Amino acid sequence: MKIYKAGEKSKGICPKCKSLVPTTFKISSVPLSNSKGSVDDILCAICDHCDHIVAVPQQSAPRIRESLKSKKHSIEARLPRHLLDILILAGDQFKMGNPELLKDSLIRHYINLADQNKSMIKNIKKYSESDFAKGAGYRLSLKVNKKIFDRFEHLKQMTSLSKTQVLKGLILQINQDILQRPLKKRIAELEMVLMASA
Ligand SMILES: [Zn+2]
Repeated sequence: MKIYKAGEKSKGICPKCKSLVPTTFKISSVPLSNSKGSVDDILCAICDHCDHIVAVPQQSAPRIRESLKSKKHSIEARLPRHLLDILILAGDQFKMGNPELLKDSLIRHYINLADQNKSMIKNIKKYSESDFAKGAGYRLSLKVNKKIFDRFEHLKQMTSLSKTQVLKGLILQINQDILQRPLKKRIAELEMVLMASA
């Protein structure tokens, strides 16, 4: 496979000029054919006459695939304000700034944990049905990759709970571990995870 670099010259049929044109490799945003949106920062052969994308080299394929994977999945629910407060408070315990961003990593980590932990699954069921979990009104939107999305789906199956209920259960587990009865081991492990993602 030939590896191209930015600034390199080539030739190709431009779909807009409808002729053979000289091209230059540049970093560009590639529109997606199947859906709305585009993938940024992809090396492409660009038409020297009209700036249209003429070709996307093979070396860019994994980057596009990766981006599609991570873009596609989001977990959304409407939750009561106090549950969102718990997430922000829990993120704030780690004193790394930006608890808004840390809250996403926290939930992702707990999705992973719960997937392999029977007692946590029991807790999630219990917590999600508690009085404290009741309510709605505020949107939580979580961007996740395919692996975590699948684990979340698996959690839904194992607990026979809805998406919103699983999220509520996870957040109340976080409340328990970090705010109510802090578990040193869990906090140390979370510190590592959050540090890597902050
Ligand atoms: Zn052109």
